[in-house]
Amino acid sequence: MAQPPPDVSEDECLPEYRHRFCPDLLRDKVAFITGGGSGIGFRIAEIFMRHGCHTVIASRSLPRVSKAARKLAAATGQRCLPLSLDVRALPAITAAVDQALREFGKIDILVNCAAGNFLCPASALSFNAFKTVMDIDTLGTFNASRVLYEKFFRDHGGVIVNITATLGARGQVLQVHAGSAKAAVDAMTRHLAVEWGPQNIRVNSLAPGPISGTEGFRRLVSSQASVGTKTLAIPLQRLGNKTEVAHSALFLASPLASYVTGAVLVVDGGAWLTFPNDLKLLADFVSFSAKL
Ligand code: NAP
Repeated sequence: MAQPPPDVSEDECLPEYRHRFCPDLLRDKVAFITGGGSGIGFRIAEIFMRHGCHTVIASRSLPRVSKAARKLAAATGQRCLPLSLDVRALPAITAAVDQALREFGKIDILVNCAAGNFLCPASALSFNAFKTVMDIDTLGTFNASRVLYEKFFRDHGGVIVNITATLGARGQVLQVHAGSAKAAVDAMTRHLAVEWGPQNIRVNSLAPGPISGTEGFRRLVSSQASVGTKTLAIPLQRLGNKTEVAHSALFLASPLASYVTGAVLVVDGGAWLTFPNDLKLLADFVSFSAKL
């Protein structure tokens, strides 16, 4: 079986990647990546930069994105502008996009990667918690896409990659909030691909499966033992890594995918087809919460 590409679990750049990239693929492109200061978003920024791209990485915590930007620029020699924004706040997005355009003169690629998630049964989920996840994942994706469209993509074309998930495909237990939010983003991908295609804007979703070394995965697993059992249920028999997700994002963002729009690229080792939808987990969660 083919070996997966290298990865490191922390938000650090890859030590042994030099021989694997083609710096012309995204040469002098500029990518705006929400949630680019950590996890999958950080690795997407790194892989894009190793392929010639400059990046803007944006999230709520300025210290987080600033530290990440220093590492990314040092490792790749490309420019990385860290900006603070909350994807729920339109004025903050508008100001960040304006600043990025002043700095780089253009934005070619938008990656909507910012999201929040946690495990919770629908019966215990507060109305506000559901709304918060919808606000960050779904509205946040629309907000950033709409601002970028108005400020640059409408007149110059562009590429949007929405990072989603397969949770809604089979109604994954304890995930009604994130599954609903990401399913709505996949629908948004198709709507925007149709409406904005004539302006030369490609819009695609990338749906990762369980990805090691990420905050998202750490929050969703109850124990190391359950990771082992779940891994065996994945057709490729292992978790994915951030580099693999980033390579797929690179494909969607690059000219290699010039005729791909409105698609959902699932990057999960086949997991969504076979992953256990564990009703016992639901019962355990409810009885544990009842004892608190
Ligand atoms: P992560 O490291 O927690 O990344 C989430 C990022 O979003 C953080 O950098 C966070 O930074 C930012 N963020 C959160 N709320 C925000 C807001 N309101 N405005 C702006 N930025 C915000 O998690 P990850 O696991 O790498 O996940 C990355 C993406 O992959 C997410 O879209 C997730 O749903 C998706 N995904 C992950 C997995 C997995 O196994 N990890 C599986 C399927 C899908 P701040 O706190 O600084 O704002």
